[in-house]
Amino acid sequence: MASTEYIICHECDLLLAAPVLGIGEKAHCPRCKLHLSTHYRNGSDKVLAFASSALIFLLASMAFPFLGLNAQGQKREISLLESFDILISSDYGILALIFLIMVFLVPLCSLLGIVYVYTAIKLWRPWSGVKAVMKWVTRLQPWNMSEIFIIGILVSFIKIVSLADVNLGLSFWSFILFVLFLNACLMVLDRYQTWLLLRRLYSYD
Ligand SMILES: [Zn+2]
Repeated sequence: MASTEYIICHECDLLLAAPVLGIGEKAHCPRCKLHLSTHYRNGSDKVLAFASSALIFLLASMAFPFLGLNAQGQKREISLLESFDILISSDYGILALIFLIMVFLVPLCSLLGIVYVYTAIKLWRPWSGVKAVMKWVTRLQPWNMSEIFIIGILVSFIKIVSLADVNLGLSFWSFILFVLFLNACLMVLDRYQTWLLLRRLYSYD
């Protein structure tokens, strides 16, 4: 079943009549088979719950020690914010800036935006700037590098473990939960379904 609206396949640029999906149904491009949209059951509620959880765990990961090192009788605990300072004091200013933007600011802004948009949808309130915020959330998604940061940390552990005792801090586990909830959020956040909801929300304004 198709509506009078249109959707473009991002893989092969095919212009399609936008499908009207029932709960649990998926749409694929008929030419290249790219997945276009899924209508998840309670999708908006899930996005809001996952984004809120990810936001809490991201902020919590900044407040506690990330890891502790014990080498030759010397103990040291490092938080994520301290690692930023260490990079700057070691003349890795560019790396510190990339770390700050990709690992902290981009996911923080994305999550705040998602919570704002989906709270407006949940309360069915056409707040100002919701559509602009949703566009920015979409633009920021490719710049989120938090999973790569985790992989980098795990690779570093393998090297450090032979030199010192490593203790994983509360912040580390909080960051892992943040990455898991962020990815769960992005999995159920269907852009096409979101824009359909926003069009309905603003047509009632
Ligand atoms: Zn296609």
